[in-house]
Amino acid sequence: MNTSVRDKLLASIRTIPDYPKPGVQFRDITTLLGDADAFATAVDGLVGPFADLGIDKIAGIEARGFILGGAVAHRLSAGFVPIRKKGKLPHETVRVAYSLEYGLDEMEMHRDGVKPGEKVIVIDDLIATGGTAEAAVKLLRQIGADIVAACFVIDLPDLGGRRKLEALGVSVRTLIA
Ligand code: AMP
Repeated sequence: MNTSVRDKLLASIRTIPDYPKPGVQFRDITTLLGDADAFATAVDGLVGPFADLGIDKIAGIEARGFILGGAVAHRLSAGFVPIRKKGKLPHETVRVAYSLEYGLDEMEMHRDGVKPGEKVIVIDDLIATGGTAEAAVKLLRQIGADIVAACFVIDLPDLGGRRKLEALGVSVRTLIA
């Protein structure tokens, strides 16, 4: 990422202190999404080097990963598969438990959302501890996906998420830290 791209993205993200609980600096990307130039810059950055790799599916993590992932899927002529909090998907699912920076949850995806061997990129707005993305990786691997990369607009490097994913053999792309 060059400096002007980084500066544009940094300037477009709003920080809300103590949300959703004391001590958390919440990085609010609704301001990025509402700025056409910043949104396009973020999507371009996430698409990055993946244009000619024959990506089959973007797996977007609920909820902000849906917005970014949908746009990236369109740019890569790929399909989109939602990874959701439990109980929201209507068909047969695979499920894993995971921990968040601020809580515990389970997530799931449709068992037939990705076919074995399909090339998938995981997308979310932010990686903190990496617990959420790790759960997404486990779900996708359960059903035989080939995970090409996991991509995030924001990395919180002190929380170690990138290292956690890389230890699982997943290539990580982030735009700002
Ligand atoms: P983690 O599982 O710890 O990597 O947390 C990543 C997930 O939680 C992503 O879906 C983020 O949207 C959300 N999240 C965690 N920490 C923050 C934060 N400080 N600001 C905004 N979103 C966050």
